[in-house]
Amino acid sequence: MLSYRHGFHAGNHGDVLKHLTQMLIIEKLLVKAKPFVYIDTHSGAGCYDLAADEAQKTAEYEQGIGRLQPQQANDASLVRYQALLQPYLAQQQYPGSPVIAASLLRDTDHIELMELHNTEIGNLKTNLARYRKQQSEQTAHQSIHHRDGFEGLVAILPHAIKRGLVLIDPSYEIASDYQQVVSAVKQAYKRWPTGIFAIWYPLLTQRAKNKAGKSEWMLEQLVQLGPKNMLVAELAVDDPAKDGGMYGSGMAILNAPWQVDELLASALAEVTPQLAQDDKAYHRISWMIESE
Ligand code: SAM
Repeated sequence: MLSYRHGFHAGNHGDVLKHLTQMLIIEKLLVKAKPFVYIDTHSGAGCYDLAADEAQKTAEYEQGIGRLQPQQANDASLVRYQALLQPYLAQQQYPGSPVIAASLLRDTDHIELMELHNTEIGNLKTNLARYRKQQSEQTAHQSIHHRDGFEGLVAILPHAIKRGLVLIDPSYEIASDYQQVVSAVKQAYKRWPTGIFAIWYPLLTQRAKNKAGKSEWMLEQLVQLGPKNMLVAELAVDDPAKDGGMYGSGMAILNAPWQVDELLASALAEVTPQLAQDDKAYHRISWMIESE
């Protein structure tokens, strides 16, 4: 039984890192006229009401997008990220990864969304249908699948469209999710060695008991798969030594597009001090495998 609901966490510091990275990769794919596919293995509800009980209960967005939005950004990527979010924030909403993708993709591109939770799949369909209705022009082709995203990713490949991005964003509610990511990426990468794979992971202190160290283990396993390149971008908003649970998060990108590292470094240099909850907050951009 899945109990995780992203509505409690929407717009937090993890979402800021994840969606900024998602936007930058999609922008790189948009440079070429040739259509591409966006695959979201763990889609969530698509869009979140920040005034709803779930978001208000934890108010995590106040420590994430809530800190960023009122500031006038200097970095060009951040300016675009804020502009992308602005229509939603103006209505007390935060767009999830499916709506961010739908906002950026062209009508020739394709979106494949997977979600397993029985309630969230309904919310996803409703939110995406509402989004399509609001758009006067054509939007990208969308398919929404009520299924396990790990299994669904492997099953959907090779896709008819030969270039694109997979976002893998599990809740890590169960410790086996880390192993499942490695196993799914291993099989998917074999079927699609030119695809871009972006995986979100939490940075956890020892207090996380059975999950502490699992993200680090997962990164090592992903390196073992031998992708053409592998970039890691991490944003830690708190002091890891405080032992407060999740102190930040990261994105592992296999087959990272050219210059995404520089764009992320520049954007995070501005984001980190704004989202810092401690003077030990930091960001880190590093190539775990560099292109030859
Ligand atoms: N990617 C979304 C975003 O950025 O807006 C947030 C996704 S949330 C972190 C994780 C989602 O994965 C939850 O909605 C959960 O119900 C769903 N989920 C959990 N296990 C899953 C699985 N095996 N396959 C597909 N979805 C799953």
